[in-house]
Amino acid sequence: MDFDRAAAALPRALIDPFGRTISYLRVSVTDRCDFRCDYCMAENMAFLPKQDLLTLEELDRLCSAFVAKGVRKLRLTGGEPLVRKSIMTLVASLSRHLAAGALDELTLTTNGSQLPKYATELAAHGVKRINVSLDTLDPDKFRDITRWGELDKVLAGIDAAQAAGLKVKINAVALKGVNEDELPALIAWAHGGGMELTVIEVMPLGDIGESRLDQYLPLSLVRARLAERFTLEDIDYRTGGPARYVRVKETGGRLGFITPLTHNFCESCNRVRVTCTGTLYMCLGQNDAADLRTPLRASESNDALYAAIDEAITRKPKGHDFVIDRRHQRPALGRHMSVTGG
Ligand code: SAM
Repeated sequence: MDFDRAAAALPRALIDPFGRTISYLRVSVTDRCDFRCDYCMAENMAFLPKQDLLTLEELDRLCSAFVAKGVRKLRLTGGEPLVRKSIMTLVASLSRHLAAGALDELTLTTNGSQLPKYATELAAHGVKRINVSLDTLDPDKFRDITRWGELDKVLAGIDAAQAAGLKVKINAVALKGVNEDELPALIAWAHGGGMELTVIEVMPLGDIGESRLDQYLPLSLVRARLAERFTLEDIDYRTGGPARYVRVKETGGRLGFITPLTHNFCESCNRVRVTCTGTLYMCLGQNDAADLRTPLRASESNDALYAAIDEAITRKPKGHDFVIDRRHQRPALGRHMSVTGG
């Protein structure tokens, strides 16, 4: 009996109804961003009132609960994670799980603008690799896409990250008529600088005041065009994520493709996402969610929180079903990528 009670109190590992073990948590630490990328946000976004946000201490407790339940990889995202006030306090405190061997990786996805300020500290707290989102190397185009961003600052951020010893992967969203001609140059630049590049299909998330059809560029087409310029060799490399990789023979670098629309990659999904208000999304492409803020705030013990997480994982869906075509002009989901993080 005592043994049963003790076992019940231990956090259970997270295994969903399809047998997938959840070992990867992505946490959006803020919905705010210093850019307004036109495929991601509307120009005048309404942001959450501060009191709705989890505090940094609550975010730490939430992440730590997931680590106790077997999560081995944590990614901070947003919004822009590095614009959240005092974010380094959270990074520093989460790094204890790295030191304890409970976490394999603490990382983040960033637009790069704040890296000159934070790269050294990130490295000091055990961050080894980061993803930087960059869709173009043309300063005017960069300004057009991000509305408010400056390319120079991002490039300086990437330099700072590399100088601090961080490995940088570049993520670029393929945008029809915007950066499609530039992808070979982006590949040459990234690989020339010792960085991997991953190209991502634009996903129908959130109302952005434009038609997705105008932006959508299937990666099957991108790949076919790149194959005219480069020798793309299929490789077995997997990160446990949705990207499928090739080696570009001419550059020697790795190129990833994330294709939520042309290929579904859900069968091996190992991840869930938490927003800055403590809402758990079991799938980036579905609306079902679980409120973790209430159990988190209800008690200092984690029992109710663990129970809420366990219950949510029993609802993790088999996959998403994004569609972009003329009959589906509205976003597949109302929430923007800045809510759940990329
Ligand atoms: N601010 C950080 C950044 O720029 O990386 C983190 C958050 S941002 C929402 C994460 C990633 O999502 C970025 O690479 C961005 O390009 C991508 N993204 C945003 N909206 C998207 C959409 N509708 N389809 C595909 N990718 C999108």
